Amino acid sequence: MSLLSVQNLSAYYGSSQALFDVNFRVAEGEAVALLGRNGMGKTTTVKSICRMISSSGELRFNGQAIGSMPSHQVGALGIGLVPEGRRCFAALSVEENLIAASRKGAWDLASIYALFPKLAERQSQRASSLSGGEQQMLAIGRALMTNPKLLILDEATEGLAPVVRQEIWDVIKRLKAESGLSILVIDKSLKELRQICDRASIIERGKTVWDGAIASLDEATIQQYVGV
Ligand code: ATP
Repeated sequence: MSLLSVQNLSAYYGSSQALFDVNFRVAEGEAVALLGRNGMGKTTTVKSICRMISSSGELRFNGQAIGSMPSHQVGALGIGLVPEGRRCFAALSVEENLIAASRKGAWDLASIYALFPKLAERQSQRASSLSGGEQQMLAIGRALMTNPKLLILDEATEGLAPVVRQEIWDVIKRLKAESGLSILVIDKSLKELRQICDRASIIERGKTVWDGAIASLDEATIQQYVGV
């Protein structure tokens, strides 16, 4: 059974239509890459799923229709978002940021600090004083503290130094291999996505144009819809 199912999704910003017909699913324990060039609708799709903007079409999560729910309810059902641009509470400490996101489950402060030892070292520092990589770790830690069934990562490695980017990928690989979490990931690094993801779905101008096993994603399709 699909954990997340997105069908005929459309969405507007004011009178401007950003999504026309987005369709994909994420099964339990699966990792899916959402691909497409800049401005094609990936973040808008994620915002629709998390109910941060209103949309039409069918959104189902864990057997329930979520298309009319408020975003906090969708979060409580088990969707954890690592948003584009990180968005932690700048004035709160690392630990306060983590506690503020906390929901009951296996992920707690101890397990987050074990996953990200750097956050443990900086637990009483303000989030605003962290490096970009540490803020990204905190954003992932916050999403995990909600104890989600589905983790959505929107450009989690964007703008980071290569060595830090690798640390983030290593954590995502561990989450996939060890936690059984379902993952929806938006990123530009196809090489890493191919190592983690089971399937991929490509959006072009607000429409799903390709969906299938990531192993079958061929060079011509990449050139047509993803390549720069
Ligand atoms: P990127 O990788 O650049 O974030 P994306 O695939 O995530 O790209 P979206 O951010 O979803 O793309 O944008 C889809 C379309 O919606 C684009 O045409 C964009 O200009 C438009 N758009 C995005 N956010 C807004 C907004 N807040 N108001 C108006 N239009 C928006």
